Amino acid sequence: MIGKLLVLSGPGGVGKSTISREIRKDSRFWLSVSYTTRAARTNEVDGLDYHFISAAKFDELIVADAFLEYAAFAGAKYGTPRAAVETALKSGKHVLLEIEISGARQVRDRFPSAILIFLMPPSFEELSMRITTRGTDHPERIAARLEIAAAEMATASEFDHILVNHEVDEVVAGLVALATAVE
Ligand code: 5GP
Repeated sequence: MIGKLLVLSGPGGVGKSTISREIRKDSRFWLSVSYTTRAARTNEVDGLDYHFISAAKFDELIVADAFLEYAAFAGAKYGTPRAAVETALKSGKHVLLEIEISGARQVRDRFPSAILIFLMPPSFEELSMRITTRGTDHPERIAARLEIAAAEMATASEFDHILVNHEVDEVVAGLVALATAVE
């Protein structure tokens, strides 16, 4: 059996990583660990949250065609490891990629059978509140993030499915249903 490739995307601050952490607990799924050039945040573990690498190493991996997709986001680069994803799919696991929108578009173009899911906040007001109260950004940075989030929200119609993030359990159940549905 070959697993399904699921892409979870959506605006920054919508709660994608909380959903991904939950999915990790389900043994039918394999959560891809991306490569990134950004610095690790406190509490992030190398090899678990991301593979943290230098910009030079990232460029080497691009040349070696090691990425299934990659993109620049907020001053850093992010990429999905091709070989690890292919191995997991061949082993029968459903693979979840938690990536931003331009990466999702690349996956859509290269893997037409991938299931593209847009995680939508219950409202833009709620997303604004989450972004504003995260407490890690300067006011100008918050304004920029809100502007990016608005542009990201406008891409929702490009996705196969939209899941509204009212409750984590509900979204996880939605992902499981999409992965296990018989065509
Ligand atoms: P953060 O720096 O907050 O962890 O992630 C920033 C953005 O990059 C998020 O929207 C996240 O989903 C996205 N991202 C993480 N890994 C990848 C990846 O491998 N490829 C792409 N295209 N986006 C990624």
